[in-house]
Order: sequence, then structure tokens, then C-alpha cells
Amino acid sequence: MNRVVNFNAGPAALPLDVLKQAAEEMFDWRGTGMSVMEVSHRGKEYDELHHESMTLFREIAGMGADWKILFCTGGASSQFAMLPMNMLYDGKGADYLVTGHWGKVAVKEAKYFGAINESTVEENGAFRRIPKQSELKLDPKAAYVHMTSNNTIFGSQWHYWPEVGNVPLVCDMSSDVFSRPFAADKFAMVYAGAQKNLGPSGVTVVAAKESFLAKAKADLPTMFAYKTYADNDSLFNTPPCFSIYILNLTLQWIKKAGGLAAMEAMNKEKGKILYGAIDSSDGYYTCPVEKDARSLMNVVFRLKGVELEEKFAKEAKNAGIIGVKGHRAVGGIRFSTYNASSVADVRKSVDFMADFRKKNG
Ligand SMILES: *Cc1c(COP(=O)(O)O)cnc(C)c1O
Repeated sequence: MNRVVNFNAGPAALPLDVLKQAAEEMFDWRGTGMSVMEVSHRGKEYDELHHESMTLFREIAGMGADWKILFCTGGASSQFAMLPMNMLYDGKGADYLVTGHWGKVAVKEAKYFGAINESTVEENGAFRRIPKQSELKLDPKAAYVHMTSNNTIFGSQWHYWPEVGNVPLVCDMSSDVFSRPFAADKFAMVYAGAQKNLGPSGVTVVAAKESFLAKAKADLPTMFAYKTYADNDSLFNTPPCFSIYILNLTLQWIKKAGGLAAMEAMNKEKGKILYGAIDSSDGYYTCPVEKDARSLMNVVFRLKGVELEEKFAKEAKNAGIIGVKGHRAVGGIRFSTYNASSVADVRKSVDFMADFRKKNG
């Protein structure tokens, strides 16, 4: 077996144990004589897996019985529209804290449904920091406040949770969900496309408090109403069964490893090694993000010149380290070090960085 060090931004690396179990169960899952892709979503075995996955998610997140877990499709991108479609009606507006590319896209979609009040930290087309609480422009009458906990493309991450008073806080956690513990009670809803930290693409986990869901608009086309998912345990139509299965295995892997505290410890260790290597490189490698806003999930850095960066990416690939090119909108280098990337992967990568610098200094 020749597994690479996979720093893809999404879809991204999955834990090897998860892949192995999926491979083992491919022909005969839970004694059905079929793979999970071939069973009925109305059958007992799938029904158990489905509900077990919801319970596991709540348990790992520390969410109480007042939380509903919904399995939606269409990625986090669909939530950018579904959230305001459900929550902005009768002239209601919302506050958006914009800290990166995806937050900006969320605003664009929300504007179809209501007035959006933005607090942004964009400067000259770039996002390099997280705003301070005092900079946030919040409307106490907003239907919700929307934020993005980790900025996948620009490599910044919130390291505190904003105070938003009595307004429900909604968070796009697509790229750092379950990478660290978080106080679920701070939020009314969190959502995440699974393909970064939770599994494969195809399922978007939406976790919401029942009190927030109760405010959702009911008279919407069936598949666009949160109510449909909540009332039918996300089994109104055929759910993305295989994606939910891999989600289930990944959640079990997180739980077995010690839950979110263990994930955080490992991710902090990886961040220390990587940012340490960048900061001690005498400016050979530079991180454009302000120190207190650096992401532990998407570590971005620059070399001197696009040509050198191209060479870096090419040689990294030859050394078995893949997916390191920054997003096409920003360039540079990005190591996406989600939960499934190990401390050993990161050590191998900083060794490569040191070696590359020696040869190209
Ligand atoms: C990747 C990403 C998205 C887009 O997710 P899709 O599932 O492709 O729609 C949205 N928000 C954040 C923070 C992301 O990292």
C-alpha cells in the first residue's frame, strides 16, 4: 500500500481505519449480504445506522436533547440559501460576519431573501484576520447572526466565539467541525459539508436547536424546508446513505480516539510544528495571516515568487506530499491538516520544507 501525505482541502484525507472498515464491509454489511449502498433506506439496518449517526454526532458535540441533527444534501453551498430561505421572511434581516471567501458567498445567497448587515474584515481583496468583538456591527433585531468558524481558503480561524446577545448564532463549520471542543450552547445552529472533517462529500450535517427550527418558514417547497428534515428525521426522501455510513465510521473513529479534546490536542501539536517551521525559516516561508487568527486546519504560507511556489508544489508531490497548492483565488501554498492528517504527516512535511529550503535557499 502506498498512501500519500494528503493535504487536499476537500474532499480530503479520511482516517485509514475508516477506509479499512468500509473495504471489509463492502460485500456484506451488518450481515445483510449487501453493501450499505444496496440496502433499502427504509430497512431496519439502515434505519439503525441513520439514527445512530445522529446520536453519535450529538454526543461528540455535547449537544443536549433539544438539538436536532439533519442530514441535507447540496453541500454547505446549499445551506447558504436554505438558511435565509427558511429564516428570513416578513421583512426579517440577518447579520453576517464575513471573514473569508465562503462567508462572502453566503452573503450573496442570503441577499435573495432579506436585508443583510455585513461586518467584514476584507482589505484589498484579502482576509488576514478575525475581527475583535468591538468591531462587530450587530442588530439586536436580526433573525440570526451568521459566521464562518474557519476560513478554508485564506487560512484564518476564530479563536473566540462572538457575543451576540439574544440573537441566534449560526455557524458554517465546514472546515473545522469536530477539530476542537466548542460550547454548543453558544449556537442555535451549526452546519458542515462532510467532506473536510467528517467524511465524504454528499451529506451536509445541519445541527440546530429545536427552538430555532420552530421559527423556520413552513410554506416552502418540500425539500427546501428544514421542517421536512426535522419532522421526518431526514428520511422524507432517499438520504445519501453511503456518505452517512462513512460519516458514522468517522464519528466512531473520533469517539474512540478520545473525542474533541483529543482532536484539539493533536491539531494544536500539528499547528505548533508547522507554524514553528514557518516562523523559524528566516522569512523563507511567510504566513500572511495575523498570528492570533491562524488556522489549525488550513495552514497557508508563501515563498518568494510564484515560480518557487510552483517548484515547491511539484517537488512536494514527488516526495509523496500532495494537495499543497493554495486555492486558485489566492495562490501560495496551503497544507490542509484536518483531523485525519497525523502528527507524523506534518513532521514529514516540515522535513521536506527544510530540505527544500536548503536546496533552493
Ligand atoms: C468547502 C466549504 C464550503 C463549500 O462547501 P460545499 O460542500 O462544496 O458546498 C462552504 N463553507 C466552508 C467554510 C467551506 O470550507
